[in-house]
Amino acid sequence: MQGYRVAVVGVTGEVGKTFLKVLQERNFPVKELIPIASSRSRGKKVTFRGEEYTVRALEDFDNFKGIDIALFSAGGSTSKEWAPKFAQDGAVVVDNSSAWRMEKDVPLVVPEVNPEDVKWHKGIIANPNCSTIQMVVALKPIYDRAGIKNVVVSTYQAVSGAGAKAIADLLRQTLAFAKLIEGKEDISPEELKEIFEKLPPAQKFPHQIAFNALPHIDRFFEDGYTREENKMLYETRKIMHDESINVSATCVRVPVFYGHSESISIQTEKEITPQEAREVLRNAKGVVVVDNPSDNEYPLPIDVAGRDEVFVGRIREDRVFKPGLNMWVVADNIRKGAATNAVQIAELLIEYKLI
Ligand code: NAP
Repeated sequence: MQGYRVAVVGVTGEVGKTFLKVLQERNFPVKELIPIASSRSRGKKVTFRGEEYTVRALEDFDNFKGIDIALFSAGGSTSKEWAPKFAQDGAVVVDNSSAWRMEKDVPLVVPEVNPEDVKWHKGIIANPNCSTIQMVVALKPIYDRAGIKNVVVSTYQAVSGAGAKAIADLLRQTLAFAKLIEGKEDISPEELKEIFEKLPPAQKFPHQIAFNALPHIDRFFEDGYTREENKMLYETRKIMHDESINVSATCVRVPVFYGHSESISIQTEKEITPQEAREVLRNAKGVVVVDNPSDNEYPLPIDVAGRDEVFVGRIREDRVFKPGLNMWVVADNIRKGAATNAVQIAELLIEYKLI
């Protein structure tokens, strides 16, 4: 059979499971699938194209010879240790963690924005952070038309971005809440407080996530910004090849299962009207414009979950940045923000005959 030997490392996780779906949906030419996770998952079964495969642990391998592509989504420390071993044995690694993104000799790629960067890879290609990916897909067409000086972005990020345990936190707290309010038709703030105190504590978050909003994703630095917020600045500059763009981000975790939303204010170099922006975005690859507020039509995470494109709406003139635009950008963080983007990178490797 024609095709490639594809390893999926972290196959039992949120992103890993989606890798299998996306590979199948996009008819990626997989000759052989090698599903890999930690020793905790050794022997577990996963299904791909209707066939059952047994999960192996990374430690079970003497070498990785014969693997063409390795899609990694097993956390930063696993990537740091194991990705070079795959690359040394001849695989091209597409890594979802933050481990390699800012390394000079590692391309950081969003296929709609900087596809050509895959050409200078040295064995590892990094997939950007989920919030960055959807933002740059929406920014690039505006950048090409009008230039971009400054961006102020606030994110509303789904719990799935923090993995399977984070989804379990939101489910557990919502379920406990539903049980505690059973039979009640209204509720006072005092009663709510009492009920919240009885909810099971979150394992993945520092505070209750159900019915809350946490302005805290990843760790804080001394200047008050978080690592997630810094990723949005530095990754954007690297992907767009423009060190002059400034991005001031506030990243917030919200009780949404799938789909990150972003409110983005953009200061452009040149004048661009909202109508022109709608047009360039409508013609852009991988973008869907949903912008009809008078009929309550704008992108919503519940509609966008399960889709591979980036959805843009609420396009309007910015009231502070002149010239500037304001828009609302939503995408499925596990698909375009992780698995789909990585599979698209693997497709580029085939298209450019790099494997
Ligand atoms: P997850 O649901 O917690 O899954 C983690 C996966 O990594 C599991 O398959 C786990 O295997 C595996 N793993 C953990 N430690 C390992 C080790 N020492 N050796 C081998 N496998 C190991 O997390 P996720 O949401 O899928 O995210 C995975 C990675 O993708 C993270 O680096 C994350 O930052 C990145 N990412 C996530 C998103 C997102 O939106 N979720 C977006 C972009 C990037 P076991 O089941 O055996 O423990």
